[in-house]
Amino acid sequence: MTVAATALLAYCRAGFENECAKELAALAADASFDGFVRSKPGAAFVEFVFHAPVGDDALRSRFHFRDLVFARQLVRAIGWIRDLPMSDRVSALMPAIEAIGVRFGALVLETADTNEAKELSTFCRQFAKPLSARLRAAGLLDETQSALPRLHLFFAGSTAVCIGVSDPDNSSSWPMGVPRLSMPRQAPSRSTQKLAEALQWFLTPEADRDLLHEGITAVDLGAAPGGWTWQLVRRGVYVTAVDNGPMDPALIATGQVEHIRADGFSFRPQRPVDWMVCDIVEQPIRVAPLVASWLAEGQCTHTIFNLKLPMKKRFDEVARCRAAMEDTWSGAGINCRLRFRQLYHDREEVTGYAFRVDDRRKKIARRRDS
Ligand code: SAM
Repeated sequence: MTVAATALLAYCRAGFENECAKELAALAADASFDGFVRSKPGAAFVEFVFHAPVGDDALRSRFHFRDLVFARQLVRAIGWIRDLPMSDRVSALMPAIEAIGVRFGALVLETADTNEAKELSTFCRQFAKPLSARLRAAGLLDETQSALPRLHLFFAGSTAVCIGVSDPDNSSSWPMGVPRLSMPRQAPSRSTQKLAEALQWFLTPEADRDLLHEGITAVDLGAAPGGWTWQLVRRGVYVTAVDNGPMDPALIATGQVEHIRADGFSFRPQRPVDWMVCDIVEQPIRVAPLVASWLAEGQCTHTIFNLKLPMKKRFDEVARCRAAMEDTWSGAGINCRLRFRQLYHDREEVTGYAFRVDDRRKKIARRRDS
């Protein structure tokens, strides 16, 4: 059974609707889907409305959530109900859900990530109970089947809801695309959550174990006071922390951290390291070539880095940085892969992950053989 979507619905950080709209439009154009973007500044969501409904298969094969930078979640919108009654909303919704004609593995009730919309989150939590009970009774919801599509109800108000569907392998598994990460008490800065989220997002749990384990080495550029270093140290990694600012003494006391007061743009390690991470607050077009050169020169195999975006033309800036990095690698004749994402913990910034493809493969094979 194929589900016909009338639009793609993407959630994003409030204020980044323009960037999210641009990337949806660009991907839709690449995939030859005709339509138009509908968005409102500050709404924290964007729709790409199809001129004609599009079936699942076409969307699955041509639209990959992981290619998106600014979209936190991607839902195939079936349609909006804008006049939901204030009482017995369940009965009002059931016919539209039944009409989709598929069984679901999860029910996700969501709102946009704005202060006004968040006022609806209590309602969503309460409403989830009776709705899921009715869906289960109708044989439409089976939470033991995690491979089945998820049913999303995106509330833009207590009477306006968009009904949508997502595939577990082509969407975020986190409701609203927001990871639930607690702030570790021992970490010296809140930035630690950024690297924690980046690692969750860019690596599978197996890749995290294979690529970030005891005894490997890393350089952290712009490390102070040490939130990112802390994430590496807790995995048993030996870290060279480069920053003129002070590092958390507790990290130095672990014996796993060497603090070097130097300029991150000129520092190079004596021997290649496994990872380089970089959180220097600088113009993105200075940071991106720096990071690209570490991989091109074989100074590291993997990198995670943050790009602070300018106020304007943020979408174009990411594209410019991507092009500069890819130029460096093709000039050096090496095969690298690069992905960007605006993480939940990123503000006016995006986080990049890049690696040397052959070296990553070899490291994983070696680790699994040992
Ligand atoms: N990742 C750190 C953490 O988790 O605690 C926070 C890093 S903070 C956002 C940026 C750091 O970059 C500052 O400590 C600053 O001193 C450092 N920095 C700025 N310019 C630098 C440069 N050229 N070389 C090295 N560090 C630099």
